[in-house]
Amino acid sequence: MPINNGAEYIESLRNRNLKIYLFGELVKEPVDHPMIRPSINAVAKTYDLANEDSELASAESSLTGIRVNRFLHIAENTHDVVNQNRMQRKLGQLTGTCFQRCVGMDALNSLYSTTFEIDEKNNTQYHKRLKDFIKQIQQENLVIGGAMTDVKGDRSLSPSQQEDPDLFVHIVNRDEKGVYITGAKAHQTGCINSHWILVMPTMRLRKEDKDYAIVGAVPADATGITYIYGRQSCDTRSMEGGDLDAGNAKYSGQEAMIIFDNVFIPNELIFMDGEYEFASMLVERFTCYHRRSYVCKTGLGDVLIGASASIADYNGVSNVSHIKDKLVEMTHLNETIFAAGIASSYQSYKTKSGNFQNDDMLANVCKHNVTRFPYEIGRLAQDIAGGLVVTMPSEKDFKNPNTGPLLKKYLQGRKGVPTENRVRVLRLIENMTLGRNAVGYLTESMHGAGSPQAQRIQIARQMQLEYKKKLARKLANIPETEAEELTREQSDYFDRIFSIKDNKKQ
Ligand SMILES: Cc1cc2nc3c(=O)[nH]c(=O)nc-3n(C[C@H](O)[C@H](O)[C@H](O)COP(=O)(O)OP(=O)(O)OC[C@H]3O[C@@H](n4cnc5c(N)ncnc54)[C@H](O)[C@@H]3O)c2cc1C
Ligand code: SF4
Repeated sequence: MPINNGAEYIESLRNRNLKIYLFGELVKEPVDHPMIRPSINAVAKTYDLANEDSELASAESSLTGIRVNRFLHIAENTHDVVNQNRMQRKLGQLTGTCFQRCVGMDALNSLYSTTFEIDEKNNTQYHKRLKDFIKQIQQENLVIGGAMTDVKGDRSLSPSQQEDPDLFVHIVNRDEKGVYITGAKAHQTGCINSHWILVMPTMRLRKEDKDYAIVGAVPADATGITYIYGRQSCDTRSMEGGDLDAGNAKYSGQEAMIIFDNVFIPNELIFMDGEYEFASMLVERFTCYHRRSYVCKTGLGDVLIGASASIADYNGVSNVSHIKDKLVEMTHLNETIFAAGIASSYQSYKTKSGNFQNDDMLANVCKHNVTRFPYEIGRLAQDIAGGLVVTMPSEKDFKNPNTGPLLKKYLQGRKGVPTENRVRVLRLIENMTLGRNAVGYLTESMHGAGSPQAQRIQIARQMQLEYKKKLARKLANIPETEAEELTREQSDYFDRIFSIKDNKKQ
């Protein structure tokens, strides 16, 4: 039976045999753990949105012929890619945090085209296997986590050069039925809330790294997997009872380390095995999708702008010119992120496999903006909020019969606004800029889908300086030397921008 809504999804996570450590102890049932539950609620929202707004959050799949959750859909046209971004912004607005499913969606889509091209070259069967897997998960309506980032040890060394070979996930054994992998993946978003984990290499590989060129699907509760839960700033507030101090008590993100100890992947779930020369294609296509998926943060930005405008209103300064200007600045930064991401999706093109891939340059510009602008938006939110955002007493003090009335009297703002509303919105700003969801709004914006330098490298690769120099020289009437005439940098960027014909075809 497929999972039909958020409530059924939450039930589907119960009674699994997951080995999760949190605070040095094994977790009995993650679904009921007060620190874990908000992250499960955020994923559940992706199911409910598919019912509430099916146009936005689901799509007709030509693989199965049924309507599927958009997070499981292979993009069949430009419209599908654009709608991923729209859905991500909406979910960011609804949850104010990371809803954890985009890594899986972007992994499925990048694997779809990469497996096709591996098969085309090597006559392998990966694409068919992947399609069978996608059909199964679409029919059952499951959550897929994407495990790419290895723990990496010495960053200046390749996987096979590390002193400990397990610092990148690799094949340690194989038999006629499949392969066995060992290693660890760091920062795994939503892994405990997933039904399946897609394991992928983290970087470009060379011949000597062949055993690290492994892609496969494993059930989240496979034998040999251990999860160690990542803690977040202020995370224990959700364990104190009450909902005020958490700021956003219902939703949070989730990251954990996944340790694979001789975990079995059967042949039918292996989608790359030793084709090291295709690792960079997979990683680059994945990061291309994923870097514009970060428009999710504009949904969070909308919430933070709304919180800032609310506190200004509660404080009686909503008509002050510098406050208005700061809200305009926050909006400008937020929309600049969205503009690059959605433009990247609109510039999608058809891959050899038939699915659609967004534009890489604009995706990198989007993500690079994400590494910076949320910090500035957060700074402006704290400016507008005032110092109380970090000096406010606890919910228990508000409930205490001695201190509660004093706090209510002395922390009131504009006439007619209950003190509690003021406190709640300040806690939300704290949550998003310093607390649990600052993980999702700030540091995930910095490092998720690659640290800032990774985007600068991709931008540098595609900036076509020789082409641009020629444009300038031509207008300045500077004759070209023979050598200059011969250099023409390769990049699809301008070809695609000017290729009206291709866009019409879609
Ligand atoms: C909240 C969060 C969620 C995430 N979710 C996922 C997920 O679901 N799945 C997943 O697979 N990954 C996930 N990631 C991982 C993310 O892709 C990595 O954090 C990112 O690629 C950076 O890797 P790192 O954290 O190991 O940092 P490091 O590699 O340690 O980087 C630290 C700094 O060193 C620099 N550096 C590193 N290596 C080199 C080098 N060789 N040369 C020059 N400079 C270098 C970097 O540019 C950076 O400035 C997530 C990360 C975060 C923070
Ligand atoms: S950080 Fe954004 S893009 Fe990544 S999984 Fe979370 S919500 Fe999706």
